[in-house]
Amino acid sequence: MAHLGCILLGAPGSGKGTQAKILHRSLRIPHISTGDILRSEVQKKSALGLKVSEILASGQLVNDDLMKELVRVRLGESDAVNGYILDGYPRNKSQAEVLDQIIQSLKYFSPVAVYIELPESNLLARIVGRLSCGSCGSIFHEVLNPPKVALVCDSCGGDLMKRKDDTESTVKKRLEIYREETAPLLDFYKARGVLQTVSGLQKIEQITKDIEAALKTVSAK
Ligand code: ADP
Ligand code: AMP
Repeated sequence: MAHLGCILLGAPGSGKGTQAKILHRSLRIPHISTGDILRSEVQKKSALGLKVSEILASGQLVNDDLMKELVRVRLGESDAVNGYILDGYPRNKSQAEVLDQIIQSLKYFSPVAVYIELPESNLLARIVGRLSCGSCGSIFHEVLNPPKVALVCDSCGGDLMKRKDDTESTVKKRLEIYREETAPLLDFYKARGVLQTVSGLQKIEQITKDIEAALKTVSAK
């Protein structure tokens, strides 16, 4: 297959990370989650991590210039030569325009955007019950997608933990920002004819099948 760029769009909690981790294995292209990259910097207490830690905890967005540099470097790494799955970027129109420039300068094909659509009424429960593996990043849910053994990762045996920003008050802020800044990107990609929508209300396995089918439809055009 030619170079496959996929942008996963959807509200916080819609299932982007869950799907990206599965697609990374089936399509053999990297899962680039800007949230995961930032959280790992916070965990390492690097200069970048110290700078963004409070922003992440409050649910605000990190500034566009900083994100541009981070994404430019990551997309240019050798494992992205056959494609990538972007999760959490772009998050506003300015980031989408920057992404166009980065993709052009790397001479990659235009990406496909896949929107995982989930009613707002489902999002809070998905987020407050989320459990993430501190070692390998696998994602579970206390009720909807529980690990076989409580708080132990099925994939690597690591400890499962809650994200600091998965509190009810922070979720409110994140949803507000999503509605105002990120949701307009649906029209941005729709106008280009590269937007595919899948229902996030289905089982995880079915959503993966729908995304894979959507990617085939667009990349066959
Ligand atoms: P996002 O990356 O979009 O913020 P996640 O992939 O982290 O979302 O998913 C949020 C929560 O919802 C996680 O706890 C995950 O286990 C759970 N989840 C993801 N997809 C589904 C699904 N199809 N059905 C039920 N729960 C799901
Ligand atoms: P996520 O893992 O995608 O839910 O992102 C977690 C947090 O990381 C967000 O609430 C932001 O604070 C920050 N973040 C992730 N991606 C971006 C981005 N593209 N632009 C700005 N901030 C981001």
